[in-house]
Amino acid sequence: MSVAGDAAVETELHEVGETLAAAFPSASRQPLKALDARAMEMASGDRELRAALFRFVDVVPACRSLDDLARHLVGYLEEVSETPPPLSAAMRMSGTRAGRAALGAAAAGGVRHLAHRFIVGETPAAALGTLRKLWERGVASSVDLLGEATVTEAEADRYAKRCLDAVERLSSATRGWPDRPVLEADGIGPLPRANVCVKVSALTPLLRPDAPERGRLDAAGRLRPLLRAAQASGAHLHIDMESLDSREAVLELVLDLLDEDEFREGPSAGLVLQAYLRDSPAQLEQIVTWARATPRVPPLTVRLVKGAYWDHELVQARQHGWEVPVFQDKHECDRNFEALTRELLAARPALRVAVASHNLRSVAHAIACNRVGGGEDRDLELQVLRGLGDELQHALAACGFRVRTYCPVGDLVAGMAYLVRRLLENTSNESFLSEQARGVPLEQLLAPP
Ligand SMILES: Cc1cc2nc3c(=O)[nH]c(=O)nc-3n(C[C@H](O)[C@H](O)[C@H](O)COP(=O)(O)OP(=O)(O)OC[C@H]3O[C@@H](n4cnc5c(N)ncnc54)[C@H](O)[C@@H]3O)c2cc1C
Repeated sequence: MSVAGDAAVETELHEVGETLAAAFPSASRQPLKALDARAMEMASGDRELRAALFRFVDVVPACRSLDDLARHLVGYLEEVSETPPPLSAAMRMSGTRAGRAALGAAAAGGVRHLAHRFIVGETPAAALGTLRKLWERGVASSVDLLGEATVTEAEADRYAKRCLDAVERLSSATRGWPDRPVLEADGIGPLPRANVCVKVSALTPLLRPDAPERGRLDAAGRLRPLLRAAQASGAHLHIDMESLDSREAVLELVLDLLDEDEFREGPSAGLVLQAYLRDSPAQLEQIVTWARATPRVPPLTVRLVKGAYWDHELVQARQHGWEVPVFQDKHECDRNFEALTRELLAARPALRVAVASHNLRSVAHAIACNRVGGGEDRDLELQVLRGLGDELQHALAACGFRVRTYCPVGDLVAGMAYLVRRLLENTSNESFLSEQARGVPLEQLLAPP
């Protein structure tokens, strides 16, 4: 983009950012959220406490009783040198059996409360009420069936069956929902109401970096019936991206399958591009080249994210003495996200674009680039995660943008890995949400990275 173009984007971006910020629901109307925010703040301010809480959340599903739960909580908190006063009081309670039971119940309740902020229901049927309410308020959804890293074929079969049921159940339920024109079409054509995300690591136990072919073939056998079901019922199927060691396998799997004759004309399908990876521009080029050489109706949707496995990629590379594959400077990651946003928008109509972020600057930048480049708002989808992006989701819907919320569905045990990742993200000092919660002024939040 030219210098004048860049300036026009910055001007538009500030207007959009200010309008969205003014449309955020006020915190006073959401007392529970404010309470959670204080708990999060306490956890982010103390590294030892944060580590202890993460270890605790990890063992909750394995605890057999409340007594067990309380013993673990006390055990982890004993490692924290200066326990905050409310926790010290709780720990004193744990001296007796009755005290431990009360403490265990409170801890289990706390974890469950936190989980419900991120997880919409235990099954797609149980989630339908919430999904419909979102739709009525102008928010589309994408259902993610919790369950990661399958280790047996039977688990993979069960996950595939749950995905199949979700595609069918959501497709039939959403037919009765009221019209929401903003959510149902863009300049390319109609957009499915039912939208389901799948993880390849849950579709096969054989996904290994040293033998990608076996995992790919095994996953393809379970993904094909899902694509057929989505095609038959008019649903969208989105394949999430996980850690780097499975990226090539996932990318090849999706592009190869969508290239098969039976999938050339549907279903609507998508994949994910992670901007924290240094080589993501080359990956985008590969996807755009594929999309131009393989015209599909409807086109492939690309969801742009920063990436949820930052700590994992960093630790793994350091342990093995590999070159670190992710940016280590947050500003570099944000700048790359903006560069990829511009390239993705320019690749339309060969692709559909979904920008997934809770960062007001990243989101306002995408909207501004689209407008300055002559695009219509409906030709850009904005996506947020349930529990982290609720305020932004309401603001986007109130301002008439096309917004989709990613809604995990499943039980607490299956959701624990997901929950821990979201907590880590939310309490990291460099995260946009934590800056926003600390009261960093809007002008600074919207400044170029
Ligand atoms: C709808 C939706 C779907 C998603 N699907 C996926 C998916 O399929 N796969 C996936 O991996 N993630 C996925 N994510 C998560 C996403 O990758 C981000 O982790 C999350 O959205 C936080 O980024 P942000 O732009 O909202 O916030 P920001 O606070 O602006 O960015 C935080 C992100 O910046 C990066 N980061 C943090 N510290 C540094 C640093 N020191 N140097 C460089 N980079 C750093 C990390 O990626 C971190 O998550 C999804 C998110 C959404 C909203």
